[in-house]
Amino acid sequence: THFGFQTVNKEEKESMVKGVFDSVSSNYDLMNDFMSMGIHRLWKDELIKTLNPVPGSHLLDVAGGTGDISFRFLDKIKQSKYYFPQINQDGSGQSSTSLPSSATVFDINQSMLDQGKKRGILNGYNDTTDPSIDWVHGSAEQLPFQSDTFNCYTISFGIRNCTNIEKVLQEAHRVLKKGGRFLCLEFSHVPNPLLKFAYDTYSFNVIPIMGQLVAGDRDSYQYLVESIRKFPTQDNFAKMIENAGFKQVTYKNLSFGVCSIHSGFKL
Ligand code: SAM
Repeated sequence: THFGFQTVNKEEKESMVKGVFDSVSSNYDLMNDFMSMGIHRLWKDELIKTLNPVPGSHLLDVAGGTGDISFRFLDKIKQSKYYFPQINQDGSGQSSTSLPSSATVFDINQSMLDQGKKRGILNGYNDTTDPSIDWVHGSAEQLPFQSDTFNCYTISFGIRNCTNIEKVLQEAHRVLKKGGRFLCLEFSHVPNPLLKFAYDTYSFNVIPIMGQLVAGDRDSYQYLVESIRKFPTQDNFAKMIENAGFKQVTYKNLSFGVCSIHSGFKL
């Protein structure tokens, strides 16, 4: 298809990916629920459970889209036993006496960020009044942040859309503080041949048709399916993370390998 990335250059791929997410941004959250039958919520919960953030953590959520990971991160911190909430004296809401924490949602697509900001307001994270969240536009391959800035870096269903994965990983390593953790949630490869057959049948046949029926956009969803197949296997991706300088690199499969969470530390 015209989304066959092997034959396109960096600018072409970036502009295609931008087109895909421009096209899906208004339906993105609905389609995620629809196509994964809500399971993406469990995978994202698992990512945050693995990270287990405490007050004082600063997250860079790259390819953060409409903010799913960042909202979960901030919610999880509020459940921490080290978080001490306090009702403001003027009754204007809740503040905390614990160390301040923050989540920076970072994405190349402004329409995804704009959708996320609207959701943030509905979820109690209004970036104009709440210093714990901000939304920054830019590319994962060239982060506009100083080195050694964040404790946590997440990238959820984003890295396979990037042209230069090595560069994304190097940038992740650069902006993390020593001791900081990298976590990547991404579609992956199902090792069991029978389950792989069932999964391939569903994703190649059903997802593009659902994209057409629900979002009126078959091509974008066809692209999403194809990009999953082209992404490195769990072991090869773990090696790439190590090559970027991360230590103690591990991964765990979710839903039989439909997704995996890769983890690494900057030591
Ligand atoms: N992280 C969110 C989630 O899990 O729901 C959004 C994932 S969405 C499938 C992929 C996101 O990656 C899109 O918002 C897209 O704009 C973003 N993206 C693609 N290439 C990027 C790049 N080079 N730099 C930053 N973001 C990128």
